Amino acid sequence: MSATSDYQRLRAHLAFLRMTAAAEALPGVLDEARRAELSHSAFLERLLGIEVDAVDERRRASLARFASLPSPFTLADFDFSAQPSVDRSLIAELGTLRFVEDATNVLFIGPPGVGKTMLAVGLGHAAVAAGMRAYYTTATELAARCHRAALEGRWATTMRFYAGPRVLIVDEVGYLPLPAEAASALFQVVSQRYLKGSIVLTTNLGIASWGKVFNDDAMVAGAMLDRLLHRSVVVSIDGDSYRMRTHRARAEATRKAVRSHG
Ligand code: ADP
Ligand code: MG
Repeated sequence: MSATSDYQRLRAHLAFLRMTAAAEALPGVLDEARRAELSHSAFLERLLGIEVDAVDERRRASLARFASLPSPFTLADFDFSAQPSVDRSLIAELGTLRFVEDATNVLFIGPPGVGKTMLAVGLGHAAVAAGMRAYYTTATELAARCHRAALEGRWATTMRFYAGPRVLIVDEVGYLPLPAEAASALFQVVSQRYLKGSIVLTTNLGIASWGKVFNDDAMVAGAMLDRLLHRSVVVSIDGDSYRMRTHRARAEATRKAVRSHG
């Protein structure tokens, strides 16, 4: 058995096992092994390590694509000094993702522009970084997708889809009132994830006004809230809009500039 045919068969094994990164790195690692007189196990460890890194990287990239997070901001980008009503240590605790282990839900409640989406998306990025499947959607998008699914006879598949991710982010509940059919879709998603998988939800409505989202159907609203809140962390944010704040700062700077030129 020649060294050349060993090498060829090794290449073939790696190709068969679809270990492309290891296959590509093989000549280099073999050279290195000869030069540095690596032991067999050190050589094998180095080669497999390269494949493990490549697979891990691919998995993470695919999780990130799947998650569909609408912005790149992480929890580290959140400016706590701009939003004193947000408890920094609570967000740090959420960032450890311990809440995911017992399927605790997280509700961000507050007026527009205070960073609810940013924090929810930040948790999404943290989940992806930890190798978890996360998925971002808005309440409106979820409703539309369920509506299509019902028409096309894919209801069960779609419900399974929303049950799948470890962390499901549902943004902007309450911005638009949901038609009864949409409300019941959201209710079903919440029900089937209950005690099984976390939901991170943002809403501009105080819990007392939840009836409005569901066309004053207090039964659906109450049943949904029961499930959402049973095991949950509620983060109420009642500060100024961050967007308005930057607008104000810009307007102020402009006024100053105009004054100093005048
Ligand atoms: P909401 O979802 O509550 O309406 P967003 O999360 O969309 O608010 O925030 C509005 C904009 O302001 C976004 O661009 C967001 O990144 C930014 N923002 C809000 N709060 C903060 C903050 N505390 N630090 C940094 N950026 C912020
Ligand atoms: Mg938002």
